[in-house]
Amino acid sequence: MKAIVNASIVLESGILYDGALLEENGKITAVGKAKDIEIPAGAEVIDAGGAYVGPGFVDIHVHGGGGYNTYENPKAAAEHFLKHGATTILATPLYSQTFEELIESFRLIREEMKTNKSIKGIYSEGPYTNPDYGCNSHHNPWRGAIDMDKCKALVDAAGEDVLVWTVAPEREDLKAFLEYARKVNPKVIFALGHSEATPEQIREQMPFPYQPTILTHAMNATGTIGESHGLRGRGPDEYCAKDDEMYAELISDSCAIHVHADMQQMLLHNKGVGKVILITDSTTFDGAPPEKYSHVTDLSFDDRGGIAGSRMTMDQACRNIMQNTACGIAQAFLMASTNPARAVGLYDTLGSIAVGKNADLVFTDDMFNIERVMQEGEICVF
Ligand SMILES: [Zn+2]
Repeated sequence: MKAIVNASIVLESGILYDGALLEENGKITAVGKAKDIEIPAGAEVIDAGGAYVGPGFVDIHVHGGGGYNTYENPKAAAEHFLKHGATTILATPLYSQTFEELIESFRLIREEMKTNKSIKGIYSEGPYTNPDYGCNSHHNPWRGAIDMDKCKALVDAAGEDVLVWTVAPEREDLKAFLEYARKVNPKVIFALGHSEATPEQIREQMPFPYQPTILTHAMNATGTIGESHGLRGRGPDEYCAKDDEMYAELISDSCAIHVHADMQQMLLHNKGVGKVILITDSTTFDGAPPEKYSHVTDLSFDDRGGIAGSRMTMDQACRNIMQNTACGIAQAFLMASTNPARAVGLYDTLGSIAVGKNADLVFTDDMFNIERVMQEGEICVF
């Protein structure tokens, strides 16, 4: 049993100054003002030194980092992100992988999930997206009509461990895929992304109960909105903006290149702080940056100088969102931990600090410099 004292505990409803928290067998057993929490004899007392203690980050969209891909060496990649406070990740393969490579990635991830506390599932970004959108698109082999034999083999290989499939409604025969994916894993949700679909196409191709509940990296690879004669068009971003239930993923990099700071602020106004999910979309691509981005340190580039996700970790993403918008620490934790857990169905056990939930905790200063990480009650030692 552990007792954390002298902490500013970041709850979903606000910050509990001078808070204390008890942990037993990996779960949170009490949380409250220090004066109201009785520390049991024999508990190991951890003095947080006045740090903020928030729920461990949940990065649902992360391809790789620290030199390791979450779909090739999930163990090493998970450890890299854990150091930076992500106590939960969804391993995210690439749409530029071949059929055989994807099957092997799913197998590897699922094998690692049996013992790895960080990896709670697979986020499959594609492969049934629009191959014209996204980095490295010249290597995307998933073009043309959907081959249902391959499709079923992929869905079977991911099984019940895939929590999210990102799709583009403009793909032919998408409905057969959606139905089969939901049949194999009734909990799976669908994200809309790497798409230029109109709201009409989205409603037609993804009717209830297959409607998209997440927008994959808002304002990135989501089409162009021009229509003729100066009329403004509508695409995935506009669909998401109008749908109150839908979450929007956001890549908030330090120079606000994926999404301009004005647009990040607009997204927060529009969706509200309860419906934005911070993601890293981190990759291990190591192409040279084009001249205009030579000053940028937290982005990755493909072999043509195209932006290929980030090199961020979630602590940086939190710092960046506070720099790029007017949000504060408690709101950053909502977007980095609570909302992603809710969106993918993990909120019952993690994503916020509450009695009965996993003792997944991040100790940080007010700039998201991580001081300690606790995962299921264990202080992580690196
Ligand atoms: Zn993407």
